[in-house]
Amino acid sequence: MPATKAADNIEKIKLGARHLGLDIVSTARLGGDHRKEFHPSIREISASLEYAVVIGIRLSQPVLLTVETAPTWTYYYHYRNVNFALDQAALRISGFVQKMGFRALPLPASQILDWDRLRGHLSHREMGEAAGIGWRGRNNLLVTEEFGSQVRYTTILTDLPLPGREDPPEPWGCGDCRRCLSVCPVSAIHEDPADFELDKCAAQLRRFAKSEKLNTLICGLCLRVCGGKDPGEKLKG
Ligand code: SF4
Ligand code: SF4
Repeated sequence: MPATKAADNIEKIKLGARHLGLDIVSTARLGGDHRKEFHPSIREISASLEYAVVIGIRLSQPVLLTVETAPTWTYYYHYRNVNFALDQAALRISGFVQKMGFRALPLPASQILDWDRLRGHLSHREMGEAAGIGWRGRNNLLVTEEFGSQVRYTTILTDLPLPGREDPPEPWGCGDCRRCLSVCPVSAIHEDPADFELDKCAAQLRRFAKSEKLNTLICGLCLRVCGGKDPGEKLKG
């Protein structure tokens, strides 16, 4: 394996990814605790892929404003397009990594494998937390100071040495904000993110898929109100 410096490697990835429309690119060094939650289909291969590149694309505010009481077709197409763009970006980044002589495993932005827990190969939210992008919000999504929860993510696992977090986690959190609690139609969101009721949320997503004739599990209500800095301004229609 070629010798490379972690800090140089992330700069090379960012340079290669500059035309891919990404709003967030960050990296993490993974431990066994992260891996034990991975889907069994990638647990063995991921054991030798010690690093993660987490990429994100911000959702459109005007599209989210169409979500007033239920997910809309406008949001559905946007959600699909953003996932597609993330998958394409992950593919391109994996290509750069392989050209550098390392291995890369691009994971889908949105593919459910565990239907009880609504989980894919891994949790992009957990990878984002490990990469220092933000915190687990009361709505169970990754929240950043700048964009709130209005970003979709995917992850590339790799053996290319990349910077990990050495600092203790920032004292981040939702603080006094409770905007998402009142908009959830099934009261799945609570004061403590650990009390989030996934079963209630999942049941509502299934109801929306049926009532709105969408063939995917989306909602958007708690996302709409979680726009990061100055949410009041952003929510003006
Ligand atoms: S809306 Fe507020 S309370 Fe809810 S997840 Fe976002 S920052 Fe946290
Ligand atoms: S996605 Fe919808 S149902 Fe689930 S917690 Fe957010 S608002 Fe509630």
